[in-house]
Amino acid sequence: MYIQDKDVVGKQTLYEILGLAQDCQDHEIRNAYKKLLLQNHPDKNGDEIIRINEIQNAYKILIDPKKKKEYDETLERTFQKQGFDIYGEGLDEYDLNDFNEAETEEGELIWTRDCPRCQAENSMIISEASLEHNIANSHDETGSYAIIVQCESCSLWIKVKYYDTE
Ligand SMILES: [Zn+2]
Repeated sequence: MYIQDKDVVGKQTLYEILGLAQDCQDHEIRNAYKKLLLQNHPDKNGDEIIRINEIQNAYKILIDPKKKKEYDETLERTFQKQGFDIYGEGLDEYDLNDFNEAETEEGELIWTRDCPRCQAENSMIISEASLEHNIANSHDETGSYAIIVQCESCSLWIKVKYYDTE
């Protein structure tokens, strides 16, 4: 395993380091990386060099589909193992029924809700694809699933329960 649980526990996620949501697109990863590199100049002090190393490492993993998948799985597994308590505060649980169903311009179904912490509008976004991916990777036989979602604005994680309606 390239990425281990210890790389994830109690640390900022790579998404948080780059200021991204977990379902971000490749171009968003590239843009965030470039922007952060411009903001952090390596000529100043040790802290900034460490920061740049973090940014570069996060970028290298997230831009590589294989490594990103492995990282996402490690992240998910770690959250589950930690009882959703990775940052010392248990994740609040929500129901997908509390989300607003909408359709993107590309015709994909998404579910959104306002963030319970920072109140940003529709900043919690779940795509149909991520729900299906989650079901495919879950071995729950009760028909109930949980997915972890991050606020695009303040990086708060919540847990969302849903059922496979098919
Ligand atoms: Zn928020």
